[in-house]
Amino acid sequence: MSGAARHEPRALIVQKYGGTSVGSIERIQEVARRVANAAAESRVIVVVSAMSGETDRLLGLARALSPEPIARETDVVIASGEQVTAALLSIALAERGVAAQSFLGHQIRIRTDSAYGRARIQSIDGERLHRVLDEGKVAVVAGFQGVDAEDSITTLGRGGSDTTAVAIAAAADADACEIYTDVEGVYTADPRVCPGAQKLERISFDEMLELASLGAKVLQIRSVELAKRYGVRVHVRSSFNQCEGTCVVPEETSMEEVTVAGVACDRDQAKIKLSRVPDRPGLAAKLFSPIARAGIVVDMIIQNVGEDGTTDMTFTVPKLEVKRALDLVRATGREVGAGAVESAGDIAKVSIVGLGMRSHAGVAAQIFEALAREGINIQMISTSEIKVSVVIDAKYAELAVRVLHDALVNPAGEARV
Ligand code: ADP
Ligand code: ASP
Ligand code: MG
Repeated sequence: MSGAARHEPRALIVQKYGGTSVGSIERIQEVARRVANAAAESRVIVVVSAMSGETDRLLGLARALSPEPIARETDVVIASGEQVTAALLSIALAERGVAAQSFLGHQIRIRTDSAYGRARIQSIDGERLHRVLDEGKVAVVAGFQGVDAEDSITTLGRGGSDTTAVAIAAAADADACEIYTDVEGVYTADPRVCPGAQKLERISFDEMLELASLGAKVLQIRSVELAKRYGVRVHVRSSFNQCEGTCVVPEETSMEEVTVAGVACDRDQAKIKLSRVPDRPGLAAKLFSPIARAGIVVDMIIQNVGEDGTTDMTFTVPKLEVKRALDLVRATGREVGAGAVESAGDIAKVSIVGLGMRSHAGVAAQIFEALAREGINIQMISTSEIKVSVVIDAKYAELAVRVLHDALVNPAGEARV
C-alpha cells in the first residue's frame, strides 16, 4: 500500500422505527441514541411512523365529523402524525450533537398515484436525500405519505411506513433496510397470540409476501413487493434490544425442506352471501365486474350449486369496503332476480404458509384434522401453491392459530430458525 489512505465510501443504511418504537418522548430519545450510534459508522436515513395510537386518534377525529370523511382531507389529517415524529426525532438528535433534518413526503418528492388512503409510490427523488447525507447530516423522513400529481397529500395504507422505508432504500441505493419494531423479528406466528411462536432467522420474499397479505402485519405487503423487485436487503428487528432479527431474502433451495414457515390470521375480512342466483353463464361476471371496477378486492369465492337451477355465491371482501360491496351486490341481485343478500363481519381467515408445501402433500388434511379436534367449523377454504387458508368464526381465531401452529409448525421442531 502506498500513497494517500483510500476511503471506502461509508455504507448507507435506512432505519425505520414503528409506532411503539417512537411512542413516547423517552422512546424517541432512545431511538435518537440508536441512530446516533449508527451515524457514527454509516450514512443514515431514518423513516418514522406516527407515535403509537396517533393514526387511530387522527382517524377518529375525522370520523367524528363524518361517517365517511372525504378521502383527500382524511389523508391530510392522518399524514400529520408522521410529521410530528420526524421533527421530534430531529430535535432529539440535535440534542445529542447529531445534525439531522426532517423531510415530509413532498419535500423528497415521494410521488404516488391518487388513491387516497392506499396510494402507491411511483417515484422518489433520491438525489435530494443524498445532498443532505453529503452534508454529513442524518435525513429523517416522515413515513406513510407522499403527494400525487396535483401535489395533494396521500397516504400509503396502514403500516405504510414500512413501504416508505423500502422504497427509499431502493431509490437511494442503500446497503440495507432495517425495520425496527416491537418484536424481535418475523415469527412462525404472531408472538402475542401464540406463545410457542419461534423467531425465523430468514424468510423468503414469497413466504413473507403471503404472510403479509394474509394478516401478519409485521411488514406491509407492498414493502415486501418492492424489496423483492429491487433486491433490497430487509432486516426486521427489535428497537428494544440488540438481538439479531429476521432477514427477508431470495429463496434458497434448503427452504423447501421445511413445510410450513408460519401461520397468519386476518380479521379484517367480511363475508357476503347472495342466495338463489340463476345458474347460467355470465352471472359471475355480472356480479363481480362492478365490484372490481369499484376497486374492491374480492378474496375467497365459493359457489354452491342448488338443484333448482340456482346457486349461492359466498365471497369475502375487506371489512372497510363491505358497505360499498353490499350496495353493488344488491343492485346486481335485483337485476338478475336473485334472492337474499346477507353479510357477516364476525369471521377470521387463518392461513398456513410455506415453500415446502409445493412438495409436501397432505398439509390441508392436517389442517382440517387439527381444527376438527377442537370442534372448529370451517366455513370456506382456499389453497394455492404455498398456502392454505380457512375462514372460521372470529371467536375461534386465536385458538385456531395456536392449534395449527402446534400441529404444523412445531411437531418435529422443524421451523426454519
Ligand atoms: P410497527 O408499529 O413497528 O410497524 P406493527 O404493529 O405494525 O409494528 O407490527 C408488529 C406487530 O406485528 C407485532 O407486535 C406482532 O404482534 C404482529 N405480528 C403479527 N404476525 C407476526 C409475525 N408472524 N411475526 C412477528 N410479528 C407479528
Ligand atoms: N402510522 C401509520 C399506521 O398506523 C403508518 C405506519 O405506522 O406504518 O398505519
Ligand atoms: Mg407496522
